[in-house]
Amino acid sequence: MKALDKKVAIITGSGSGIGKAAALLFAKEGATVIVSDIQEENGRAVAEEIKSNGGNAIFFRADTSQPADNEALVKAAIDNFGKLDIAVNNAGIGGPMGLTGEYPIDGWQKVIEVNLSGVFYGMHYQLPAMEKNGGGVIVNIASILGMVGTRFSPAYVAAKHGVVGLTKATALEYAPKNIRVNSIGPGYIMTPLLTTNLNQEMLKMVEALHPIGRLGEAEEVAELILWLSSSKSSFVTGSYYPVDGGYLAQ
Ligand code: NAP
Repeated sequence: MKALDKKVAIITGSGSGIGKAAALLFAKEGATVIVSDIQEENGRAVAEEIKSNGGNAIFFRADTSQPADNEALVKAAIDNFGKLDIAVNNAGIGGPMGLTGEYPIDGWQKVIEVNLSGVFYGMHYQLPAMEKNGGGVIVNIASILGMVGTRFSPAYVAAKHGVVGLTKATALEYAPKNIRVNSIGPGYIMTPLLTTNLNQEMLKMVEALHPIGRLGEAEEVAELILWLSSSKSSFVTGSYYPVDGGYLAQ
């Protein structure tokens, strides 16, 4: 018996990085995966990779900052597979960097819309579907920057702190309805989000912030997402779990 046998899971932003690693692992563990991303070509490729490995997946394009896209994504799970068991709200962007006093207003709005409102919109449609199904599990991808600050990314830090709080509030509401909701806080992970935003010198600097002495891999985050999504974590809800090479222990 695999950890996610017979489970139907939505993973947003799963055309790349952490979401992609989670999609591949979920499929390996028996889940049917709705691979969703704003990047159609990447998302389709992940769904194809799962199918060519013998797994079950479809791609559905959704921009998580649009409420209607989130509604359509949940509908796609129900229409194709009859239910929704697991949702991983992972889609996110880095956004611009700059001092709060100089930060572009449109950059602030975009980061908050994708990284915070996107998680709310997702859960807003996922929760009733799960309730109808008798329960479910949601994992929201926050960040170490949902617990502590950093300079020059005020919108990202605010959005990720928001995800941690929103996760707790939602978990309290839905614990009696058999829906568990947790967030996780990756340290700096080697994905396109990081490598397109930071140059080699900056990557060396952030690497040094991790006591374990290196950056994380997407697969290491996916293992925690899997555990939180499986029945092995059946008494865990409303929690925040770092996966950060010791970053937050300092
Ligand atoms: P990634 O490799 O860039 O993957 C994220 C995927 O989500 C990309 O395909 C991206 O497309 C897509 N996306 C962006 N905006 C979207 C939207 N509005 N709707 C649907 N899809 C959208 O990034 P990652 O590093 O795996 O990040 C995944 C999550 O982990 C994010 O929430 C991020 O904040 C969080 N996280 C990452 C790190 C890290 O160091 N990598 C650390 C802590 C937390 P585009 O390429 O068009 O943006």
